[in-house]
Parts: sequence; C-alpha cells; structure tokens
Amino acid sequence: MYKEPYHFPLERFISRERFNHLKDITKDMETPVLVVDLEVIRNRYLELNKCLPYAQIYYAMKANPNNEIINMLYELGSNFDVASRYELDQLLALGISPKRVSYGNTIKKKQDIEYFFKHGVELFATDSEYDLKNLAKYAPGSKVFFRILTEGTGADWPLSRKFGSHPDMIYNLILDSVDMGLIPWGISFHVGSQQRDIGQWDDAVARCKYLFDAVAEQGIELQMINIGGGFPANYVDPTLDLEQYSSEILRFLQDDFGDDIPQIILEPGRSLVADAGVIVSEIILVSKKSKNNIYDWVYLDVGKFGGLIETIDESIKFPIFVDKEGMREEIILAGPTCDSMDILYEHYKYYLPETITPGDRAYIFTTGAYTQSYSSVNFNGFPPLKSHIMK
Ligand SMILES: *Cc1c(COP(=O)(O)O)cnc(C)c1O
Repeated sequence: MYKEPYHFPLERFISRERFNHLKDITKDMETPVLVVDLEVIRNRYLELNKCLPYAQIYYAMKANPNNEIINMLYELGSNFDVASRYELDQLLALGISPKRVSYGNTIKKKQDIEYFFKHGVELFATDSEYDLKNLAKYAPGSKVFFRILTEGTGADWPLSRKFGSHPDMIYNLILDSVDMGLIPWGISFHVGSQQRDIGQWDDAVARCKYLFDAVAEQGIELQMINIGGGFPANYVDPTLDLEQYSSEILRFLQDDFGDDIPQIILEPGRSLVADAGVIVSEIILVSKKSKNNIYDWVYLDVGKFGGLIETIDESIKFPIFVDKEGMREEIILAGPTCDSMDILYEHYKYYLPETITPGDRAYIFTTGAYTQSYSSVNFNGFPPLKSHIMK
C-alpha cells in the first residue's frame, strides 16, 4: 500500500507556540480534560461585534455554561439566551441582570414562565397558542418574539422541525398576543447549527419581512428580528469566514428592509466558544481486529458519552491531532465505553501516524462548544468531562 507522511494542519487551529504551552500545562493532568482559552472567546466576541455592529448578542449559554466564560462575556456586554430555570439560576447567582436575559425556549412549563417573570426577565420566545396563553397569564405584559420554522438545510447540526411554526400560524399568534395584553416584539429563527449555506438567512429574513408587512396592515409594528445562531466554527471542513456571513446577512436585511432595518438580535453559541476548546485525551488501545483488516481501531479515553455526542452520524468532524511523526495511517476512532454506538468516526476517514501507541495523547480541537455540557453523568462510571481554563 502506498504511504505518505502524516501531516496535520496544526496552524489552522492553534499556533505551534500556544500548542506547546497547552501541552506543557496539561502534561500532568488526568485526561480527558477540556482546556478552554478565554482569549479566543474574547476575540471571537469582539469580532462578531465588529462584523455585526448593529446587532445585540445573546450568548446561547447551552453551548458552554462555564462561569468564567459567562462572566467574561457579561463584562464585554453580552446578553444571554437561556432555556431553563437552572440556567437562569446560574446567571442570577453570578449577579447577572435579568434584563440581559431572554427566555428563548419555546417549550416551557407554566411554573417556569412564572419563575422567569418573577425574577425580572422581560423577553420571551414562543411558537404555539398554548405557550402564548401561558405567557399572557404568567408573564403578563411581557415582550414576546415568535419563532418561525426553518428547514435546517445546509447545516451540519440541523435544529429544524422541532422549533418554530409556519408563518401563517405565527401571523395569528401575533394578532392574538395583542388581545392578550402582551407586546409582540419580533420574529426569530434558527437556520441550523454550523450552517454552511449563508443563503438560508436570506429565505428566513424574507419570511420575517412577509410577517412584518402582514401584521403592519393590522396596525402592529414589530421591532426586532432574532437571526439566531448557526454561525460557523473551525472544524475539519472549512467554511466561509464570519465577515462573509455578516456582510451577506446585512445585504439580505437591506434588500428586504431598505434603510429601515429592525433591531437585530444574534444568538451565537458554537461560533463564539467552539474554537476556544481543546480536549486533551489519551489513546487507550490500538488494535487490529483481523489479520486481513486494513484499518486499525484506535480507542480514546473520550467518546460519545464523554462529550463528543455531536459525532452522531459523523455530523461534526472534530480535528484530531497526535504530535508524532510517521507514515500516515487510516484509522477507525472509538470511545472508551461499553456501548457499540460509542464509535466516533468509521466512514469518514481519519489519519494518525502509524507510530502511535497506547498512552499517547490525542488533541481534539474545536471542542469548546456542546461537549462538556453534553457529557453524561456516569455512564459506565466515567465522570463528566472536566474543564480547565487556560491562562
Ligand atoms: C442552540 C441555540 C442557539 C445557538 O446556536 P449555534 O448554532 O450554536 O450558534 C441559538 N439560539 C437558540 C434558540 C438555540 O436553541
């Protein structure tokens, strides 16, 4: 079989110098551990702010609810998109003003609505009649935004179908909300996470415009469009950069709204924190399953249950690096648990140097989002993924 030297484009993810520092500080740490670089998040936040200066940022804290990340973003001026009372409790305990919080989950219990309202949250998402009635009753007079359905086409991690309703349905909810004493504030959507097709925002903005005009005929003036998340992080497959996303989105808004662009809200999760994280893991085992099998199986000490659930269907392709030289070898990657779904990549080919041995460290980049918050409590007794803030 023809072989070539192993090569990994490290500089696409981290400078050599920073990587050596990372290796150094994690040398004696127990793995797996997620190392988070706050500076990367700060720079990402500032970049988003610069690219979309007209937008208000609501960090989707589910992506990584680490207190240090939240405190830093709060100081930078960020608001927060919250999905449960537990997330709200966390923010309140950190001293974060409820005025900077939006209850963005359309699926909520009455008691939860009441809880948010009592604690001073003023902005709520909805997409159904039942929820709207509950909002009118338990959060009277609040500002409400209405989530429209999108398809999620073009996204590595689509969020479609479950959230949002058809614009015709939303139209009626908006009219009802006025009768119920609520303030219809705007429209929201989410085009799907790690969305590669910028055109998806075009369709969604056009639907917002349709609704803005339709309810204006009934004397209702909406103020805001929440363009959701979906902005990219730096995984194996490259995407366009943030600046291209933002300039295109601005163009879509101008096409539809001219000089009269509504207030814009942005809810970044992945794009804000993913690039800041590296999971340091250890190779537990390298094995060949039969003499005639061409691929080695490589088992890491982190897998689907330890935080890498987004490898489901090989949707998110995390860059994985072993700092060794050698000829490159195609491998199958799996996690440490006793569940056969705990295979990371089998169809999409990953390469590692053939010199790897158990005990070597594997560095999994772009793992700052949707890893630690997804890791299981103690499946097979493995503890949830730990994290460490890099200084
Ligand atoms: C998860 C979520 C986000 C964040 O999406 P990303 O693609 O990670 O940026 C934003 N808004 C809502 C309502 C969400 O549920």
